[in-house]
Amino acid sequence: MSARTLAGALGDLIHRQTGPLTRDLLRTPGHFGLGQVPARLAPDQTTTMVCGYCSTGCGLTVHMKEGQAVNLSPSAAYPVNLGMACPKGWEALTPLRAPDRATTPLLRNARGKLEAVNWPEALQAMVGRFKAIAGRHGPASLAFLSTGQIPTEEMALLGALAKFGMGMLHGDGNTRQCMATAVVAYKQSFGFDSPPYAYRDFEESDVIVLIGANLCIAHPILWERICRNKNNPAIVVLDPRKTETAAAATHHFALTPKSDLVLLYGLANRLIRMGRVDRAFVDAHTNGFADFEAHVAAFETEQVCAASGLTAAELDTLAQVIAGGKRVSLWWTMGVNQSHEATRVAQAIINIALLTGNIGRPGTGANSITGQCNAMGSRMFSNTTNLLGGHDFTLPEHRRKVADVLGIADEAIPQTASASYDQILEKILGGQIRGLWVIATNPAHSWINQSYARDILGRLDFLVVQDMYATTETAEQAHLLLPAAAWGEKDGTFINSERRVGLLKKVARPPGLALADFHIFRLVAEAWGCGDMFSRWTSPEAVFNILKDLSRGQPCDITGIRDYQMLDRQGGIQWPFPAAAGPQAPAVERRLFEDGVFFHKDGKARFIFDAPRPPPEVPSRDFPLILLTGRGSSSQWHTQTRTKKSPVLRRLAPAEIYLELSPVDARALGITMGEIVEVTSRRGSIRARAFVTNIVKPGQIFIPMHYEKANRLTFPAFDPHSRQPSYKYCAVRVARVDPAMA
Ligand code: SF4
Repeated sequence: MSARTLAGALGDLIHRQTGPLTRDLLRTPGHFGLGQVPARLAPDQTTTMVCGYCSTGCGLTVHMKEGQAVNLSPSAAYPVNLGMACPKGWEALTPLRAPDRATTPLLRNARGKLEAVNWPEALQAMVGRFKAIAGRHGPASLAFLSTGQIPTEEMALLGALAKFGMGMLHGDGNTRQCMATAVVAYKQSFGFDSPPYAYRDFEESDVIVLIGANLCIAHPILWERICRNKNNPAIVVLDPRKTETAAAATHHFALTPKSDLVLLYGLANRLIRMGRVDRAFVDAHTNGFADFEAHVAAFETEQVCAASGLTAAELDTLAQVIAGGKRVSLWWTMGVNQSHEATRVAQAIINIALLTGNIGRPGTGANSITGQCNAMGSRMFSNTTNLLGGHDFTLPEHRRKVADVLGIADEAIPQTASASYDQILEKILGGQIRGLWVIATNPAHSWINQSYARDILGRLDFLVVQDMYATTETAEQAHLLLPAAAWGEKDGTFINSERRVGLLKKVARPPGLALADFHIFRLVAEAWGCGDMFSRWTSPEAVFNILKDLSRGQPCDITGIRDYQMLDRQGGIQWPFPAAAGPQAPAVERRLFEDGVFFHKDGKARFIFDAPRPPPEVPSRDFPLILLTGRGSSSQWHTQTRTKKSPVLRRLAPAEIYLELSPVDARALGITMGEIVEVTSRRGSIRARAFVTNIVKPGQIFIPMHYEKANRLTFPAFDPHSRQPSYKYCAVRVARVDPAMA
């Protein structure tokens, strides 16, 4: 198709979607119809929408003037945050106005420079190059890497387009880096990926156990929910560092990094020996307890203490606190998920909840807290690991159901799940994948062992990056940059950690020629020649209705949600909410498994366990320290792509990379507070400012993940079940730098 014909077709398509557009607008920078604020918003009205950063899913009230968002405040009535927001939420509009927004497609020219092109040229380049690659090497030579940051409707359209329309076999998301472990753990243990809790459980527990979770920094509003607990709960933190959350807890157990599996098995053994097994619950609602009991019997106090660094008295206290609780909730985040044996650690937490009967009641649960604003949407509807709607690519009956709902041939649906993120990179290295489409994520910064990732991206025949900025580390490697609208510039839904479907809205115009990802996917479909397959996918809300149909009969059934307006009125709605539940509005906060029935065919949960394994890279004479990574402050988000655009947020966190180093190690190395030091792993070397502190124990250092250089050091180990990277453990050395060279 020529550029002229394509422009005509695209103009027609957008005209059908939006009405008052002309074809010429596709060629001309400036605000055009796709960027206009929807008619339903009066110019000076306020409206509520969910935040676009983390999985807490706070409601924000956006204040409009003359059709544009001018400010926002936390929504007092939204059931998640009850009038609170963290700094990122308060500053959510600022990144939209950044001067380096991508405003036009950019195509790398023969001289290797990115130059502005119009949309038809961009689409023709993408489709032309991708089709040429697929023609030469087969459709499996194309793949995509997506994100937990775009609405569910966009994820679903991308997944369906890439796999059913363009014939790709492989696509994954940056959710692999944060939530894959929880997905696999829940699926295997409960029969479906099903975080069982509501945030209200934070307020109803009498014992709250936080494992590898620094809520004060990573999920501050959830910490605020704990602060509303009127039961004077014991707050137990298991974390190698004395984090802000550990400092505020009633109990902190500073376990040796990656000793959590041994510790949790030892804890289970203790609880069993203390007679704390809820026999009635275990017998009625679980399988495999006898084998689990036999497995953990070997984890005696001496061995557990040697591995974890806890004293026998500390282990005893930990067990007594949990045993004494009537409503014990156990929560985990990345300290668990990002490990070489993460899935089994998550299941060790689940096992403790099961054996003590702490699930399905108020204030209980084995509760994974998600990372990104729409990680849960990705888990259900991205069409990567799961077939749309939490279905299984390998099951013919699931493929048929999805094909029927979508009105496509069964054969259009792959019979296997995608390769995982790390496997996609390996396939690029091996030459099997040669064209990659990266959407709203930044692997050149965030992927473990960064230099390797950058080298791999550099080997692609054609790299398409779709992002709101042209300045990310990944965008700078692109052959083609597609400018995307941001949160606040488009409609759709996110699903938060407690399974709440929340609404986001278009309250600002995207700059220049930037388009909502939704419209970019539609245009790609049209340009690829499979637009007819998506003739019903005309708007985010139309797609939401398709997703409802796809969820029918699944544990995540949302057929009872009538429309976007219902989500708006209710303050979001948790899944499941099937149409069969009746016309009445659902309760504001609901937890799963109150009837003790899990999602396995026999209705029972499973005890799953394994022998612990040592980390793949351990300290040595040359690399004697353990590097821990994690979130640095509540004002920084991931690779800082957005948060560094806000002067307010920048002031709330150190501008330059730093490492936490214990006074013991600092003294031994002759390092003083504030000195620039060199940190070296087997992958690379960086310079950072030393922050000498007792937050970390001797033998360990900590570097926040937000700084671009952090992942030059990390070691690419992966959990074998979830393929989630183990960001939180590798061996390094730290050395002084000649001040003249610093
Ligand atoms: Fe947004 Fe998360 Fe902050 Fe809430 S806690 S305002 S969802 S970033």
